Amino acid sequence: MSVDEPTDKAAHIRHLLATEREAVRENTSHFNRERYRASTEYEGYEELRGRAREIKEDAIERLPELIETVRESVEANGGTVYVADDAADANRYVEEVVRDDGDTVVKSKSMTTEEIDLNEALEAAGVDVYETDLGEFVVQVADEAPSHLVGPSLHRSSDDIAELFNDRFDPEEPLETAQELTEFARDYLGDRIVEADVGVTGANFVLAESGTITLVTNEGNGRKVAATPDTHVAVAGIEKLLPSIEELKPFTELIARAATGQDVPQYLSMLTPPSDSPSLDFDDPTTPLSKQGSEDREFHLVLLDNGRTEMREDPQLRETLYCIRCGACANSCANFQQVGGHAFGGETYTGGIATGWEAGVEGLDTAAEFNDLCTGCSRCVNACPVEIDIPWINTVVRDRVNRGADEGQFDHLVEGLTPDEEPGGMDLGKRFFGNFETAAKLGSATAPLSNWLANAGPVRAGMERVLGIDGRRDLPQFERETFRDWFEKRGGAAASTKRARETRAAGGSLVPRDEATREAIVYPDLYTNYVRPGRGRAAVRVLEALGVHVEVPDVPSSGRAPLSQGMVATADAKASRVFGALAEHLDAGRDVVVVEPSDLAMFRREYEKFLPDASHQRLSENSYEAVEYVFGLLENGGDADVLTGPDADDPGVAYHSHCQQRTLGAAAHTQAVLDRLGYDVVLSEAECCGMAGSFGYKRDYYELSMAVGEDLATEFGGVHGNRRVVASGTSCLDQLDDLLDRKPAHPVELLDPART
Ligand code: SF4
Repeated sequence: MSVDEPTDKAAHIRHLLATEREAVRENTSHFNRERYRASTEYEGYEELRGRAREIKEDAIERLPELIETVRESVEANGGTVYVADDAADANRYVEEVVRDDGDTVVKSKSMTTEEIDLNEALEAAGVDVYETDLGEFVVQVADEAPSHLVGPSLHRSSDDIAELFNDRFDPEEPLETAQELTEFARDYLGDRIVEADVGVTGANFVLAESGTITLVTNEGNGRKVAATPDTHVAVAGIEKLLPSIEELKPFTELIARAATGQDVPQYLSMLTPPSDSPSLDFDDPTTPLSKQGSEDREFHLVLLDNGRTEMREDPQLRETLYCIRCGACANSCANFQQVGGHAFGGETYTGGIATGWEAGVEGLDTAAEFNDLCTGCSRCVNACPVEIDIPWINTVVRDRVNRGADEGQFDHLVEGLTPDEEPGGMDLGKRFFGNFETAAKLGSATAPLSNWLANAGPVRAGMERVLGIDGRRDLPQFERETFRDWFEKRGGAAASTKRARETRAAGGSLVPRDEATREAIVYPDLYTNYVRPGRGRAAVRVLEALGVHVEVPDVPSSGRAPLSQGMVATADAKASRVFGALAEHLDAGRDVVVVEPSDLAMFRREYEKFLPDASHQRLSENSYEAVEYVFGLLENGGDADVLTGPDADDPGVAYHSHCQQRTLGAAAHTQAVLDRLGYDVVLSEAECCGMAGSFGYKRDYYELSMAVGEDLATEFGGVHGNRRVVASGTSCLDQLDDLLDRKPAHPVELLDPART
């Protein structure tokens, strides 16, 4: 297959980039910017996230008890509770209720009813169903699936929607502006609400103690739908239960800020049905929309299980049930911003957390369709108002998909060649990337021949066909002399004192052990050791110049590569080996300095899943990103003059930090150090380079990766086009190499006393 013949996945992504990208980007970027503003301005936002997390953990733990409590309270209020096992059960119940009361249903926005395909079930039974949320109404008219948890039609521009409405409703005057479209929908749907027999809502939260339904909406139709028709049916997943109003408050503060960046939701309706109070029409406040005090008012709460009980019992998927469906994980995701939920989503749910939901309610096959679009960059982790580890859920599901795969025709070729812990049947490309350490060792030992061979036409074609590596991407070039080779040749740890004295005598910068103020190891990560040893050499010289005695021990790769492919068992085994190799250095009081931010993220975050708590804590607390460590040394009296600052004619620095580095809070240190040395630094506004480890190398995703990188290319190639480009992560460096016509460097290389 040539690059002119895209895979189905690549073709689908290319189509969405051409058709939906602009609207999705504009809307999600807006939500994202507003979320940053709203969360920064709210004092105590982080504490609130922690509190919300505690409440959800407790509520899911107590779920069976809360179901019984809400049953009692709703029944005491005069309503009915039905716990539906699955979609068919829920649909059958709602259909029976509707049949008893009429044949017209109005609905407010509800992802849970999307999950069970309630509209389709009711329509098949001859019921007219009208969505009253504007976004849901648009996708209903267009007969397409929602593309976002909060903004179902955000993939459409207002011009698109005008064309759709004019075509479908043929108004006397063509609709053009957003205001005209909204007014048209409000009038059209207002009539449907008044005439409807049954109103169906979802529920953002259900308060067990009082039987109160909480609806968070932007247009206010949710309240009208619930209170105008005589019969109200609320369909909610069992995970929506909170004990009481006491526990609701953090969520009312968080949900709109996380979702759209609004300080307060437009409408927060708390209903304790059956309601006998009238719903007012604000255009005609003297005439209630509903029949005031009707004795026929009915309320049915349908609590949907549909796999949630199993999710609750699954230690890895359980966290998904804490989700409040704000969509922040989607908005913060660089890939989602380009293609939206019509690629990054399953049957119902979209964005990062969709993998957990779809795996739980639909099954692994559905989740497998889009799970690879999560690159594990972790930006969504800080965005989530309930602190869900979304990348970990994606990794676990990827692992389960890998393990469920059938053996392939090439499996016998790789069995035994790849030192991983995975079963046969895995996608060969994933297996290759997950075992990149093996390829790197071989490639380095045989460089430069290996580099030449890898780029030879037939080999590249084979790599594309068998491993899915896109032929348009430059491959990493292996170095014959590894970072560790260099360190050993230079004298290694054992000879460093002697060599250091000699070098000092000659005016060099090496520090002998007895004169060093700290001891550290520079971790020889996979890419620094075999592909970019220059940044490792620079890190050693920088630390030595600041009075740190440095060692570069033989430590295995961190497991980041296999983990990114969902090879959890392999990553777990690597974590134990890494800790085993580092333990003696930690015992000796040495700090662990890490050049590659994604490996630092392994030590600080992901190893929590693999190592005993005490081991993880020791490693996490004693590991530092390279320039973060330099920052600490300078703050504690280190002499910045021993490092290399800007020349008189320095063009300035354009700096792009790494996603994982930002999540860890280890990015600001680089700017601070560069500022302190006198560099004129601009930070990239683009948050993601688009490469994300192996993601940008994959044929299915090459175009998406380049589309994500466009903003960074525009910034660093345009207005900052004369600046020196600096980036911390291997992926970012590789991507910038491909996007720009000048070579990027790691920031520690800029500080290198040996830089000329
Ligand atoms: S996982 Fe978190 S960020 Fe994503 S939709 Fe759920 S609550 Fe919002």
